Amino acid sequence: MRQIDALIAGGGSGTPSARLGDIFNPSTGQVQARVGFSSSVDLDRAAAAARAAQPAWAATNPQRRARVMFRFRELLEVHMQELAELLASEHGKVVADAKGDLLRGLEVIEFSCGIAHALKGEYTQGAGPGIDVYSMRQPIGVVAGITPFNFPAMIPMWMFGPAIATGNAFILKPSERDPSVPVRLAELMLEAGLPAGILQVVHGDKEMVDAILDHPDIGAVSFVGSSDIAHYVYNRGVANGKRVQAMGGAKNHGIVMPDADLDQVVNDLTGAAFGSAGERCMALPVVVPVGEDTANRLREKLIPAIAALRVGVSTDPDAHYGPVVNAAHKARVEGWIQTGVDEGAELVVDGRGLILQGHEQGFFVGPTLFDHVTTGMRAYREEIFGPVLQIVRAPDFETALELPSKHQYGNGVAIFTRNGHAAREFAARVNVGMVGINVPIPVPVAYHSFGGWKRSGFGDHNQYGMEGVRFWTKVKTVTQRWPDGGAGDSAFIIPTMA
Ligand code: NAD
Repeated sequence: MRQIDALIAGGGSGTPSARLGDIFNPSTGQVQARVGFSSSVDLDRAAAAARAAQPAWAATNPQRRARVMFRFRELLEVHMQELAELLASEHGKVVADAKGDLLRGLEVIEFSCGIAHALKGEYTQGAGPGIDVYSMRQPIGVVAGITPFNFPAMIPMWMFGPAIATGNAFILKPSERDPSVPVRLAELMLEAGLPAGILQVVHGDKEMVDAILDHPDIGAVSFVGSSDIAHYVYNRGVANGKRVQAMGGAKNHGIVMPDADLDQVVNDLTGAAFGSAGERCMALPVVVPVGEDTANRLREKLIPAIAALRVGVSTDPDAHYGPVVNAAHKARVEGWIQTGVDEGAELVVDGRGLILQGHEQGFFVGPTLFDHVTTGMRAYREEIFGPVLQIVRAPDFETALELPSKHQYGNGVAIFTRNGHAAREFAARVNVGMVGINVPIPVPVAYHSFGGWKRSGFGDHNQYGMEGVRFWTKVKTVTQRWPDGGAGDSAFIIPTMA
């Protein structure tokens, strides 16, 4: 059976793995490959290779570093179909959606191609008598990224694009559930001309995450995954003196005002709630119609739209979405549906027990709709991460605004309306990090940046864009004077520019 190994020092796979992880094809339910978990010895080797290679990489001028990104971008285009199929076979999302995963990552690589511009510092001439002040951004050194299963291409690229372009050496620990594409991306970076040791991949689970968080050579860690683990990673990394950004889970709300175009809303909602089987941190699993009439009209339109959805294997070009990632997750999502029923929500469409002919072992969950969900329910408060849409009815705008604002997660939110004033008010007041106005999945473009609030994000900087550049670099500020000879008076008070 195919085994996926680490990529250390430009090609080495590390020591033979004592622990292996199964990689499923979620469409068939069969194990299709194994991933060899790396050991702490492997991580030491990767860190040593990174330490050795990084100074020369940081000393390479930014435009030359960017050239590697340009070449990588071209290679990614050439290999797009093959990468999308590989990604879909391990994740379960349909191939067209897998391409989207790659393309959103590619946009961050394109941003990284312009890194020379992003790295320019600040300069003040004549800050004092004969004194100039300037600042520069320097790479942190050896850094790491730990990524989730649901975007195995985009999220590694969110991280390693800006980290490497700014002059760091990057060690990636991808999800152990779908690690093949991350390894292929690292191979393509090498093919694009990246020196060995600047992008390496190690594999594993909590054991490897802890080894990264405790490693003295690693100066910064970027994490994306579920909130409890994000919080843990943040605390342990910071306690070890590292810079950490840790993005967590989500429960995004879509507010539907009475004046919204409901056909457009239903169209947007079906894609945002059920696309990728709901396994997106920017999915829209909660819809909040304002007023009973809006709720009733929306529900009437949603039911046939859901009935028209096609669930299929990831290679089915007509499928709207594929299976969830593994059997445990399927059981978990179906467990949450039962919890919703037990808590008294009205189950309008039940997606449990979906069996696809010819793929009886696949991890499929049908689209599910709940109505009359309330804030006291655990099924509302927690992230389900499956194809489950919950209707929470709100009597007025203020209540609708309060729901996402008070929720423990604060990743994304959307409002659907024709009223500019309501939209503007909503965007200004809602206690959530990313807002869509008639945009259901407001993932910011690569030159802005991505980050949620509350339990959706721990740490100070967002992913990619200028926030990413700030995360992966330290600011150094130089105050300079070039005296024209002769010793000045020695000063015993703190120097001022007065
Ligand atoms: P996860 O938290 O299970 O895993 C994320 C990473 O943590 C993986 O690399 C995994 O190997 C590692 N890990 C697993 N258990 C660990 C433990 N006990 N200690 C330390 N590390 C551990 O997340 P997942 O299931 O792969 O991904 C789905 C989650 O990620 C969802 O909650 C989703 O909302 C979230 N997510 C968030 C964003 C965002 O930007 N906010 C983006 C994508 C996904």
